[in-house]
Amino acid sequence: MKLTEEPHRRLNPLTNEWVLVSPHRATRPWQGEVAKLQTTPQPAYDPSCYLCPGNERAGGIRNPRYASTFVFENDFAALKPDVTSERLDIENAELLVAETEPGICRVICFSPHHDLTLATMSVQDIEPVVHTWVGQFRELGGLDKINYVQIFENRGAMMGASNPHPHCQIWATASIPDAPSKELAAQSAYLQKRGRCLLCDYVGLEAKQELRIVSENDAFVALVPFWAIWPFELLICSRRHLKDMTELTHEETRCLSEILQHVTSTYDKVFGVPFPYSMGLHQAPTDGQKHSEWHFHAHFYPPLLRSATIRKFMVGFEMLGTPQRDITPEIAAERLRELAVTKR
Ligand SMILES: [Zn+2]
Ligand SMILES: [Zn+2]
Ligand SMILES: [Zn+2]
Repeated sequence: MKLTEEPHRRLNPLTNEWVLVSPHRATRPWQGEVAKLQTTPQPAYDPSCYLCPGNERAGGIRNPRYASTFVFENDFAALKPDVTSERLDIENAELLVAETEPGICRVICFSPHHDLTLATMSVQDIEPVVHTWVGQFRELGGLDKINYVQIFENRGAMMGASNPHPHCQIWATASIPDAPSKELAAQSAYLQKRGRCLLCDYVGLEAKQELRIVSENDAFVALVPFWAIWPFELLICSRRHLKDMTELTHEETRCLSEILQHVTSTYDKVFGVPFPYSMGLHQAPTDGQKHSEWHFHAHFYPPLLRSATIRKFMVGFEMLGTPQRDITPEIAAERLRELAVTKR
């Protein structure tokens, strides 16, 4: 089988789902290319931003004049902590089933500066962000009710981010959400079958092939996974088998900050605009189990396809069948790798 020419499907061993790859379609004429987006530069402080230091948020709470990172409970939380555990199965038919979901939603501002992003922050300024992630994971994951802590960043209006101020969210839940549940099952099955860690083995293979690696340092590797769905999707994996970020050494914290800065600034060079994405940290569940199967990693899912304004849509066959991509993960990796080494 020629992975560079023939339509084929690839397995995502982390979720046991497939992606259809149609490399022959990538040679279609580039249609609808739009001129570069005019992006208005942001001010360092925006008096109307509810995340800037000293400003008032919805509900009248005023932010402190914070100097580094700042964490607060989401004013429009999707989850509430004080919900009693209950399950409903209407007429016991297993068809109309509902459960309560206790949880906590917080917001983390990365910096007091409204105009920065992970891509434009210095590695030294990203380190406190990583420390804050670790502290929040430890605190929320340590709560009895919380069995999973999801830290994620939505960047750009295209991804629904309502505010350009650099920030991320934490949704900590009683249940383990669907995406990490699938990864938990796959990593557990792999460990049971082979007595080894799925992602340790995968990173080892990718390091040998080098085809899909975009950026790497002593502690982390960023690559376009073999099974990537989004055009410029990235997976960041720790080289050492860590189940969550509380196991990061001082040096690994610096390396993680560095690779985050490197991949986000590389993204911004793809179409010459701040690159929208959803990024998430996948750490082991905090349900009191050992989780020796889990390998800490981060996903970047950027929607842009051919220009600053042309995004990939997950519609039609993708919605009803399986996701599909045209440019191969190898070509996307090559493009990102070229940009990763060039100066801006
Ligand atoms: Zn702001
Ligand atoms: Zn591992
Ligand atoms: Zn994951």
